Amino acid sequence: MDTSMPSQALLISVAVDAPLMTPFTYGVPDKLRTSVTPGIRVLVPLGKRTVTGYVLRITASPPDGIRIVDILDVLDTSPLVPPEHLPFYQRMAAYYHHPLGETLATALPSGLNLSDRSMVVLTDKGQHAGPEHPFNCFLDKLARKPIPLQKLQGMEKKQVTQLLEEGLVAIERIFSPKKASPRTRKTYAVTDGMQPPLSTSPARLSLWEWLKENGPADTGRIQQVMPSPTASLRWLREKGLIAEGEVRIFRDPLGDTVEQDSPPRLNDEQKSAVQTILDHMNRGFHRFLLHGVTGSGKTEVYLHLVEACLERGKTAIVLVPEIALISQIAGRFRARFGEKVAVLHSGLSKGERLDQWEKILSGELPLVIGARSAIFAPVLKPGIIIVDEEHDPSYKQDTGLRYNGRDMSILRAQLENCTVVLGSATPSVQSFENARNGRFSLLKLTRRVNQRPLPEVSLVDLREMKQASGVERYISRPLYGAMKTALEKGEQVLLFLNRRGYAGFPVCGACGEIVRCRHCDISLTLHRKANAFLCHFCGFSMASGPLCPSCRAPEVRVLGMGTEKVEAAAHYLFPDARILRMDQDTTGKKGQLIRMLRQIRNREVDILVGTQMVAKGHDFPGITVVGILNADLGLSFPDFRAGERNFQTLAQVAGRAGRGELSGRVILQTYNPDHYSIRTACSQDSEAFFKEEITTRRMLGYPPFSRMIQIRISGEKEERVQETARMAAEAAKSASSGKVRILGPAEAPIARMAGQFRHQILLMGTDIACLNESAMAAVDIRVSGVRLLMDVDPYSM
Ligand code: ADP
Ligand code: ZN
Repeated sequence: MDTSMPSQALLISVAVDAPLMTPFTYGVPDKLRTSVTPGIRVLVPLGKRTVTGYVLRITASPPDGIRIVDILDVLDTSPLVPPEHLPFYQRMAAYYHHPLGETLATALPSGLNLSDRSMVVLTDKGQHAGPEHPFNCFLDKLARKPIPLQKLQGMEKKQVTQLLEEGLVAIERIFSPKKASPRTRKTYAVTDGMQPPLSTSPARLSLWEWLKENGPADTGRIQQVMPSPTASLRWLREKGLIAEGEVRIFRDPLGDTVEQDSPPRLNDEQKSAVQTILDHMNRGFHRFLLHGVTGSGKTEVYLHLVEACLERGKTAIVLVPEIALISQIAGRFRARFGEKVAVLHSGLSKGERLDQWEKILSGELPLVIGARSAIFAPVLKPGIIIVDEEHDPSYKQDTGLRYNGRDMSILRAQLENCTVVLGSATPSVQSFENARNGRFSLLKLTRRVNQRPLPEVSLVDLREMKQASGVERYISRPLYGAMKTALEKGEQVLLFLNRRGYAGFPVCGACGEIVRCRHCDISLTLHRKANAFLCHFCGFSMASGPLCPSCRAPEVRVLGMGTEKVEAAAHYLFPDARILRMDQDTTGKKGQLIRMLRQIRNREVDILVGTQMVAKGHDFPGITVVGILNADLGLSFPDFRAGERNFQTLAQVAGRAGRGELSGRVILQTYNPDHYSIRTACSQDSEAFFKEEITTRRMLGYPPFSRMIQIRISGEKEERVQETARMAAEAAKSASSGKVRILGPAEAPIARMAGQFRHQILLMGTDIACLNESAMAAVDIRVSGVRLLMDVDPYSM
């Protein structure tokens, strides 16, 4: 045998974390050979850059004529993505036309990947440019932090060109540091076979003896028995009598508050739902839709299913739409399953996410609860995947990888060959249709637990309120009456309005001009507390005042209403009531929302004012009156799902009333009392709504009778955007084989956002292959300064 032959080069297929649709083949240098396995992250050269990649598999010889480059390093000691999950990510990337490497980067805890970028940095000379320099603002910004070349805004690009010439700035490749890393703590233990220390110090001796008895221990623990051990520890270490070690600390986002758990006996409907699902649990992939009215005890059903699943030695994933709900639900699961619960959502710190991920990966935490991203949880062999409030639009991610966690749970269940349960009081039209055509098995909980009645809903026709003045225009007499009665009895009231701020329509009384955002095609909203007009899309703000930015007359008036105004009105009507406003403006800080939810449950609040944030699944037993101030807001969305969403929001808000011992009342104020979404929301009749809605959808060929892909075109130059949109629509058309309906190009409903002009094209069809072809042809158009992106199953048009 010829031993001088070089061993066969090891080749691997790698999905790089970069906007590239196909994996690349890399070589593995001999010294890294043993550490490379599928699912592991590696550092690879990519053109002039260095980026992170994910090993997909070991490959055979590369295609001819391709020069193979070696990987630079291996980043993990064991795979962060179980190799058996790679097919799921491949299917997902293909479905959303998203690069596989970026899909994996979205799935994994963030802050782990390494890459380098071209950054603009200050030179020595630039540091002393002085305040007289015309670009000193930009130089100041750079002094604080280098700016990625790609992130420069229009003006800044020009400034950088000039600053480069002056030698004040330079462009450097900088490695982004890892932002998440394991946390460890030092521990101490006595060294094997050593005799007790010969020392005159009793402290050293007793520390050594204590460690022999109780070690290994970290300083925290040692300090409990000995106030300042540092000197003794050093002495003992120097003499080799003890050794220092390291333990991994796992950051626990749930803390150790475990609530009291007293599981109720399931009622007949709950029992039958649990039984039916359990009967299928060992028989592979099966989809259920659990339609249970608000307060019918769906969560209790989930708890039983998970219990059975864990007893069979399998794992489980429970998806919840909102981070705020996770705290509530995770609390209930924690109370029942103790330390087995992991949580995964974007509200965790990077370190917490990493730690949860690794604990799940190790098999220590078999139950994962989380927002949409928990569908990526690296649990092995799930027995069940549960999606609570499956209709909720927040399952759809609206940046980067635009996936829907609900839909992906079905894909994952299919690949894992397990049970998936979608639950809701107001199922999506899509899921109802799937139940009707037999793809899903439908299970129903038709009654609230303990024979509690559904709340009684009364309509207030706002058209008849035109004569009303003052606060009565916002809070009608009947609503006021119901609030008063409830408050006098010490019960809680919820006022719902899906618009934050004080009022959303500043208009000049002199010239009639609407005060708009400088960067978006939208009117600004007055925020009283912040004394500012704010843009709800890009965050632009300007001082609020009566002066019209257009004609300079001091005549700006603010029409419309938002939650701030409702709060003020409630305060005016009930000066002694404790009022809490819950919306994006009041819940920004970490932990604030959870504190508020606790205040409500502890009855420290009399009137709760809120946006859709309060509409979702919360269980507030003290609320007996719900006031819906304007039930029509949801109808104005330019989306074929506007009716569906409006129905769901209203029925869900109404469902917050009377969940405790006392029965509830809902007063719904509307200008459209005859609209079917409002009529059916009053009776909380999801099936009646579905019957009306599905007829229209079928007639128009909208989803679920077709699939949609939206192409979004945006850029700073209007004409270029428009022209690109036209070209993209052309391309889509020629690639469609006549089997795709193409709507547009047209201006987006908000034609300008954050300084970007926006156009869109909507592709609709039943032939999925043609639809995909057509969409790919559209985004293949390349025009500099214009961004094209694809949104599969878009959520708002
Ligand atoms: P849903 O998720 O359908 O809105 P939950 O599961 O939150 O309803 O249940 C509402 C309330 O009823 C909770 O406080 C829960 O503990 C309680 N509950 C659920 N099932 C039962 C039951 N079978 N008997 C008594 N109380 C129940
Ligand atoms: Zn704006």
